Amino acid sequence: MMGNWTDSRDGFARLGTEYTPDYRGYVINVRDEGEDWYVYAWDERNGVTAYLARAATENAAREILEIHAGIRRSGFLCEAWVSEEVGHCPEDATGVRWLDSERTGKRVRLLFCPAHSHIFSALTWDPISTYRDEWGIEPEASRIIGGRRGPVREGEPTWVVMVDHACQAPYVRSTLRRALAKTEPTWSDTDYVNAARSLVFKLPDHGPWYLTRVELHTIRIALERRRARYGRFTGPGNYEAHEVIAQRITWASEYAIRRRQQDLS
Ligand SMILES: [Zn+2]
Repeated sequence: MMGNWTDSRDGFARLGTEYTPDYRGYVINVRDEGEDWYVYAWDERNGVTAYLARAATENAAREILEIHAGIRRSGFLCEAWVSEEVGHCPEDATGVRWLDSERTGKRVRLLFCPAHSHIFSALTWDPISTYRDEWGIEPEASRIIGGRRGPVREGEPTWVVMVDHACQAPYVRSTLRRALAKTEPTWSDTDYVNAARSLVFKLPDHGPWYLTRVELHTIRIALERRRARYGRFTGPGNYEAHEVIAQRITWASEYAIRRRQQDLS
């Protein structure tokens, strides 16, 4: 879905209509010659249009405002912690708060949606596309320390696994189906067998997936067995996408196990 751009003229465009609820701000070229675009976002809470970012082209400026307005997806999720019941915020991230620590030499970097953009306000804030262009950022590199938690289901915490390729869900489901069809058991416990039977049918094509510790372990074991047998990831679709989903399942499973050990100790 593209944004509803109005009042477009040379060097200027508004997203939505001013003085209406759909108004989101504007982009403007501040140079007489050449291009230097400034993005201003409508801040409903404070009733002002506030400077958001700079961009080299009009398209880049529009993209920044559309992502900020939630019209276009950024491909990254907010990393704010909401509560035990909800887990981490499920909204799209639009900006990055970051700081290079002089003490450790490492970078602190957190992705936030507009509602959580005030967190760590002492840190530098950049729109996600600006940060990505300058420093690079990959979905795999944006993992939360300790793993992304999803909503609690039947008293069990869930863990979020991003799905970004059409072949990933079929690959995981077919891996579970093959494991269930084997004569020698893949899993040591009936809990895992039951989880596999249920996941074969209910694991959706589109993510994010919210999976419990037992479900993650079930999928992880099946993927590891399949890979061990063939020495690599096989099956129809994109080999790298299979690798990525297996890695995400493993990470999430490790977080879930570590978290449970902490809870039990
Ligand atoms: Zn958020």
